[in-house]
Amino acid sequence: MNIQENISLQAFNTFGINKNARFFTVCKSIDDLKDSLSFAAKKNLPVLILGGGSNILLTKDLEALVMKNELKGIHKIKEDKEYVWVEVGAGEIWHDWVMTAIENNWAGIENLSLIPGTVGASPMQNIGAYGVEIKEVFEELKALNRKTLEIEKFDAEACQFGYRESVFKNELKDQYIICSVTFRLRKNPIFKTEYGAIQEILEKNKSQKISIKSISDAVIAIRKSKLPNPKEIGNAGSFFKNPTISNKQYERIRSEYPQIPGYPTEEGIKIPAAWLIEQAGWKGKRFGEIGVHEKQPLVLVNYGKGEGKEVKSLSEKIQKSVLEKFGIQLTPEVNFL
Ligand SMILES: Cc1cc2nc3c(=O)[nH]c(=O)nc-3n(C[C@H](O)[C@H](O)[C@H](O)COP(=O)(O)OP(=O)(O)OC[C@H]3O[C@@H](n4cnc5c(N)ncnc54)[C@H](O)[C@@H]3O)c2cc1C
Repeated sequence: MNIQENISLQAFNTFGINKNARFFTVCKSIDDLKDSLSFAAKKNLPVLILGGGSNILLTKDLEALVMKNELKGIHKIKEDKEYVWVEVGAGEIWHDWVMTAIENNWAGIENLSLIPGTVGASPMQNIGAYGVEIKEVFEELKALNRKTLEIEKFDAEACQFGYRESVFKNELKDQYIICSVTFRLRKNPIFKTEYGAIQEILEKNKSQKISIKSISDAVIAIRKSKLPNPKEIGNAGSFFKNPTISNKQYERIRSEYPQIPGYPTEEGIKIPAAWLIEQAGWKGKRFGEIGVHEKQPLVLVNYGKGEGKEVKSLSEKIQKSVLEKFGIQLTPEVNFL
C-alpha cells in the first residue's frame, strides 16, 4: 500500500477542479482496500472512494484519504442458451467494458457506450442513456462493508435502483465499497433504437445490418456531437436530473408555455431539465472561468481555472430561477464534495 500526501486531484476529476487530497492511494485488490481503511481509521480520517471522478464536484480540499478504485478483471462466470453472466472488477473503465462486451457479441449495454467512469460507480446512480439503464442487465454486485470488512452480495432488489438512484446514494451512503459487478447479457440481442437520433443514424446507414456494434457506433457519434469532451472542457455530464411532475402541474405550465416537452412515466410527466434551464435564460452563459455549455444547457462547465464552489453557486442560481419561473425544483445528479 502506497499512501501519498497532499496530492492534487485535478487530473482525477472530469471537471478539472484543482483541489488537494490530504492522503491519496490506489487500491488494486481487496487487501489494499482493507489496509487503506485501517490506515484511515487509525488517523480518524474520512474516506472518499474514487472511480473516474466523472460524477463529482470538488468544492474544497479534502481532509480525507482518497482511495482510487483500480480493482480489475473481466470473468465469464456461466452461460445458458440465452444469457452470459460476466463479473467485472469495479476499477475497469466502463466504456472499455462495453467494447469488450460488443467484441464478444454480448448484448444489452451497447446503448451505454462512451459513458465516462468506472464499472464500480455504475450501480451507484444506475447509469443510463438512450433508453437503457444498468438495472436491466444487472445480476448482482459484491461490496466490502466498511465497518465489518466482510464482502457482501447485493441483488437488484437490494440495490433499490431508481432513476439515477440506488441504496448506495441513500440509506447505505458511505458504508460500502463496490468491488465487482456481475452483468447478465444476452446472446441474442434485443435492439433498443427508439431514440430519434439513433434511428436517424441507422436510417442513413440502411445498407448495413443493425447490430450491437452499429448501435454503439451511433450512440458514440451522437454523444460526441452533443456533449463536451471533459478532456477539452471540464464537466461532469448532466448536472441535474430530469424532474418528474404531476399531470396537473404539467397542464398548468403548458397553458402558459404550450411548447413544453414532457414524457409520460409511471410517476407523472418527465420534463427535460435542459429545456427548463434554457427557458430560464442560462444556455451558453459564461461567468469568468465557469459557465453553462453553449449546446447542452444541462452541462455546467469549467473553462480551466474554475472553482468547485463557483460551479455550486451557479447551480444554486439556476435551481432558484427554474423554481421561480416554473415552480419545479431541480435536483443535482452530481455528488458535491
Ligand atoms: C461527459 C459526461 C457524460 C456523462 N453521461 C452520462 C450518462 O449518459 N448517463 C449517466 O448515468 N451518467 C453520465 N455521466 C456521469 C458519470 O459518467 C457516471 O455517473 C459514472 O458512473 C461515474 O463514474 P466514476 O467512476 O467517474 O464515479 P466517480 O465520479 O469517481 O464517483 C461517483 C460517486 O460514486 C462513488 N463511488 C465510485 N466508485 C465507487 C465504488 N467502487 N464503491 C463505492 N462508491 C463508489 C464516489 O464516492 C462518488 O460518490 C456523464 C459524465 C460525463 C463527464
